[in-house]
Amino acid sequence: MANKRYRLPLIPLRGLTVFPGMVLHFDVGRKKSIAAIDKAMAGDRLVFLSYQKDSFIESPTREDVSKIGVVAEIRQILKLPDGNLRVLIEGLVRAGITRYYDGEEYIEANVVEKSDIPCEDSLSEQVLMRKVLGLLRDHFDLYEKINPQVLASLVEIEDGGELADVTASNFPLKPHDQQLILEELNVSARLEKLIALMENENNILEVEQGVMSKLKTSLDKNQRDYILREQMKIIQEELGDFESGQAEAEGYREKITKRNLPKEVKEKLDEELSRLSRLSSMSQEYGVVQNYIDTVLAMPWDVSTEENGDITLAKKILDRDHYGLEKVKERILEYLAVKSLAPEAKGSIICLAGPPGTGKTSIAKSLAESLGRKYVRVSLGGIQNEAEIRGHRKTYVGAMPGRIVTALKMAGSKNPLILLDEIDKMSSDFRGDPTAAMLEVLDPEQNSGFRDHFLELPFDLSQVLFVTTANSIENIPRPLYDRMDIIEISGYTELEKLNIAKQYLLPKQRKENGLSSKTLKVPDKTVNAIIEGYTRESGVRSLERKLGAICRKAAKEIVEEGKSSITVSEKVLTKYLGGRIFTYDHIPQSNMIGMATGLAWTEVGGDTLSIEINVMKGSGKLELTGNLGDVMKESAKAALSFIRANSDVFAINPDFYKEKDIHIHVPEGAIPKDGPSAGITMATALISALTGSAVNRNVAMTGEITLRGRVLPIGGLREKALAAYRMGIQKIIIPFENKKDYEELPEKIKEKIEFVFAKDIKTVLENAIETGGEQWNLSMLS
Ligand code: ADP
Repeated sequence: MANKRYRLPLIPLRGLTVFPGMVLHFDVGRKKSIAAIDKAMAGDRLVFLSYQKDSFIESPTREDVSKIGVVAEIRQILKLPDGNLRVLIEGLVRAGITRYYDGEEYIEANVVEKSDIPCEDSLSEQVLMRKVLGLLRDHFDLYEKINPQVLASLVEIEDGGELADVTASNFPLKPHDQQLILEELNVSARLEKLIALMENENNILEVEQGVMSKLKTSLDKNQRDYILREQMKIIQEELGDFESGQAEAEGYREKITKRNLPKEVKEKLDEELSRLSRLSSMSQEYGVVQNYIDTVLAMPWDVSTEENGDITLAKKILDRDHYGLEKVKERILEYLAVKSLAPEAKGSIICLAGPPGTGKTSIAKSLAESLGRKYVRVSLGGIQNEAEIRGHRKTYVGAMPGRIVTALKMAGSKNPLILLDEIDKMSSDFRGDPTAAMLEVLDPEQNSGFRDHFLELPFDLSQVLFVTTANSIENIPRPLYDRMDIIEISGYTELEKLNIAKQYLLPKQRKENGLSSKTLKVPDKTVNAIIEGYTRESGVRSLERKLGAICRKAAKEIVEEGKSSITVSEKVLTKYLGGRIFTYDHIPQSNMIGMATGLAWTEVGGDTLSIEINVMKGSGKLELTGNLGDVMKESAKAALSFIRANSDVFAINPDFYKEKDIHIHVPEGAIPKDGPSAGITMATALISALTGSAVNRNVAMTGEITLRGRVLPIGGLREKALAAYRMGIQKIIIPFENKKDYEELPEKIKEKIEFVFAKDIKTVLENAIETGGEQWNLSMLS
């Protein structure tokens, strides 16, 4: 088969030979070469690389470039700040030039692929190949410059030509000698040439080592280092690669002496720097080592900010930035007081837990400011494996330090406040559990020597103040939970939201949009209308966004229409925000049969939940619809079971479940619902549907039910009560054991709503059923 022909843009290489199968990067600066790369990138990304015999010639002619080179594919291009390009290429096949066109813009050539001329005798090929491998091992023993992984992979190669190519590209040969190997098409001649060159190099090394070992005994370490470096300079100058590597290493050394680095860090850096100065700046490893040194140097080993222990200032700043939240502020100040009295004591970690938009992040920021610490936020949401926290080993391609180390780098001080956001949203996959790594980060007993896989050096985290946040406490991994001091932040009432909007959010948004309280007026009524009709949340995040939207629109109006001031009344709200998005559930017009109002708690806050039940003639089927979770379904079954067991109390036919179909539906099917707390609501609606007695329309309830009709406590009472308050409910039935949560409810809610504390379903029915359950013999239940 005829060998393949190409017409390709040509790049003359100075001081470098590329072999087929080799991937490497080099910098391109000459205009014609850059144009050649552009041309290739516009097409199939192929270029022809040819060794330039004399590297001092700026504009090579046909005679200056070698006839044999490689066809290579461009993998990646990076624009360097000085205008040069750094290209990553892969050598594909050997080829020879048949025609050379020195164009205005770039050089082009017709090339034809050159195949190897195989060895005639496979035995002698084997002998030569063994010799090459032997010399490589000798070299490795003498000098250790060849990567042991490369050495191991070379043993696997079966083709003599390929072995010669890979060896030549990895062995420290002069580029000119490498080119000789490239040009040799005959495989046995290629191996022989290579062997001669390698033997020569090994001999030199051997002599050098002999001299060195003598020197070693007679010189002290400093002098020895000096001589080594001088020697290296000469070798590198020979290789034409001195400037960048050595100068860069010197620059780093200067930086290091100026810093007050821990001994271990210094030693590690010294080690890496001597590696750096040995490497060619063209090699991939050079970039890896350089990146590592940069990262280590960027760490705040020796930088910290002065801590401010003034609690009155902390209180001032917390009050300045946040409305209400008295309990939360109090808890934080207590924490600080303890910390300032016993700075060395290893306290627990604060966890701010509550729905989104309730000011968790913002409290952490104020706290950092008041303590004079730098603030960094690390989002843990969605983190699935350990490496994200602890980093990848630097031998990995594209390795990076983990989030904790990155955060410290960003903070630029070793005593920042690091906010670990959404610690409840971490999960784990097959690559290791992030919780374990997180435990080490947070554990004061262990974190003074935290090791990141990338950094490979221990970093002292004991001076970092960690604050975590979570939306729901239940989802915090248990071992982490045990180490935390949970401070709960619950949702805001409408009134609190109004005050936050007036005193904080609106002034902030006005300022951001270049407005003032004179140019933009937003009356309280309007703010209330926004809260009710355009947001449904426990926090104030969407509220802040909506106010921001109003400010932007108002600013536009003022500029475009030349108005001097704007008042956004409730009536014109639709003009700014569009139609209302939410309407709250309304209390039913009259008392209904088979329908009861429950209270639910979701991550975004509380909500009311109406449960509807139809009982029809049928064959005993129970149907549950409305996107209900397993626990809720079980809760419905428990309620049904309770009623069957007590059919005599309610005077219903004990065989009702055989002759009737029951359909339980919880509207708004798009929203998933789960949890046991709808138990008593289900039971009430069921009893109402089966007996035909109506449920009070003004009553809402929440509580888990047992098979014996006892009422068990629930969580999230405050959020649930707020939702009932919004709907205008007058009476709420809650489990007796939630009385302590009731005590902490806002006074406003306690004034407006009557609370009933139920130990068992009897109390529930007496309060929920229109007649008070007189018609039944409820006393039999207790
Ligand atoms: P979270 O971290 O809990 O999700 P953020 O801290 O991001 O909430 O709060 C959202 C916005 O609401 C921020 O602009 C914050 O300043 C504001 N905010 C929340 N609670 C209050 C409050 N009590 N007083 C003043 N502003 C608040």
